[in-house]
Amino acid sequence: MNWDEYVRHSVAATDWIANYHRSIDKQPVRSQATPGDTSKLLPASAPEEGEDFAQILADFEKLVPPGLTNWLHPRFFAYFPANADASSMIAEQLAAGMNAQCMLWQTSPVGTEMELRMVDWLRDLCALPSSWTGSLHDTASSSTLVAVLVARERALDWKGIEHGLAGGPRLRFYGTAHAHASVPKALWIAGIGKDNFVQVGCDAEGSADLQAMCAAIAADRDAGMLPAGIIAVVGSTSTGVSDKLRPLGELAREQGLHYHVDAAWAGAAMICPELRGLIDGAELADSYVFNPHKWLSTNIDCSVLLYSDADAVKRTLSAQPDYLRTRHAQGVTDFSTISLHLGRRFRALKLWFVLRSLGAKGLRCIIRNHIAWAHEAAGMLAADSRFCIVTGPELSLFTFRLTDGGRRSQEDDARTQRLLEIINNDGFTYMTGTETGGRSVIRMQVGSNSATREHVLASVARVTELADRV
Ligand SMILES: *Cc1c(COP(=O)(O)O)cnc(C)c1O
Repeated sequence: MNWDEYVRHSVAATDWIANYHRSIDKQPVRSQATPGDTSKLLPASAPEEGEDFAQILADFEKLVPPGLTNWLHPRFFAYFPANADASSMIAEQLAAGMNAQCMLWQTSPVGTEMELRMVDWLRDLCALPSSWTGSLHDTASSSTLVAVLVARERALDWKGIEHGLAGGPRLRFYGTAHAHASVPKALWIAGIGKDNFVQVGCDAEGSADLQAMCAAIAADRDAGMLPAGIIAVVGSTSTGVSDKLRPLGELAREQGLHYHVDAAWAGAAMICPELRGLIDGAELADSYVFNPHKWLSTNIDCSVLLYSDADAVKRTLSAQPDYLRTRHAQGVTDFSTISLHLGRRFRALKLWFVLRSLGAKGLRCIIRNHIAWAHEAAGMLAADSRFCIVTGPELSLFTFRLTDGGRRSQEDDARTQRLLEIINNDGFTYMTGTETGGRSVIRMQVGSNSATREHVLASVARVTELADRV
């Protein structure tokens, strides 16, 4: 492809994207594909000869949309949002166009320095401690893995890196059942084992029971194990509940444990000063993660890990073989020394575009609207006697279920699951389910950038109509 052809085809692709968004609300939110629909359309092997690009784009238009679940749809209320402001799409196109590899400062000075500045911007927008530094990772799963590795090595006095864990003490981490699945997974990847994630009970608001955690740590020490870290969640994935960060942080300090805070979704909302009560005590954390790729308008992938002790991260992750050793000015950061991976995308560019294009005010406005509309949506359902709100709204997430006073709760579970199936087969809107307190519920999180108040209220109205079919 020459560059004239490149311009022609990329303009066609850009037009396609704009049209996709112009008519996205005419599409079902969740793909209505059945398993194998896409595989059937793809040849079993790669072509020997290069093909005409216009044909490739034409095939794209036929093959891809039916297999898409439309995350940027205005009536997407499932999981957590994955937003992408148009400015971040353009940044990704430019980053792809340069294909910058940002593993070392000298392999992309701008990639390094812009990333460090964007991390500072995000930290300051959330009023997190100005002494913290950090970097971008693909996902919160990776960010939490980094935090767990640092915690492991701090506890082992940096001996695990050389000797491995065999024959060493049994490391222990503490949290609750509200922790995301990426937490136990980080423990097993780090060689600690998920059985060593000790889940203590919660108080009435869903925060870790401090006394129980204290007791668990003491019992583990008595049994010869090595407590290494406490992992708190702000805005849990299932229902949006949060740990009280200050008392857990104080306990971590007192016990000499690493304190990691997972605010993957809710962290973005901390750009709004009035919501920061949720992270009171965050300054006690050793590491803190949130995902701009969820609620901060930046396309996937973009997770920021902040930490108080950059040297500890470097000590844990720095691998410098001869071929990566660089001689350059003192004080520059080589991301390879603080990352799981070596190769590294130019993720800072999309943050730079998004933060400038929307501004902090624009981003706050989006989040505040979502929260207000979630409260309205929950209010509408609460006013319908067939429904009850089970949890929240916590920020913009609440859960609800069908309830029929006279019936047994298990029947309500079955009817709620049936309603969820009907909602998602209908395609007008998309929600996901979970269990809380042993009961099946439907989750509704308002978080799509393209949503208006009308989209939210129309979706709730549709849910109340569909409930007639249960
Ligand atoms: C979404 C989420 C994660 C995982 O995020 P990824 O970036 O997909 O790895 C972790 N923790 C919480 C609380 C989440 O909501």
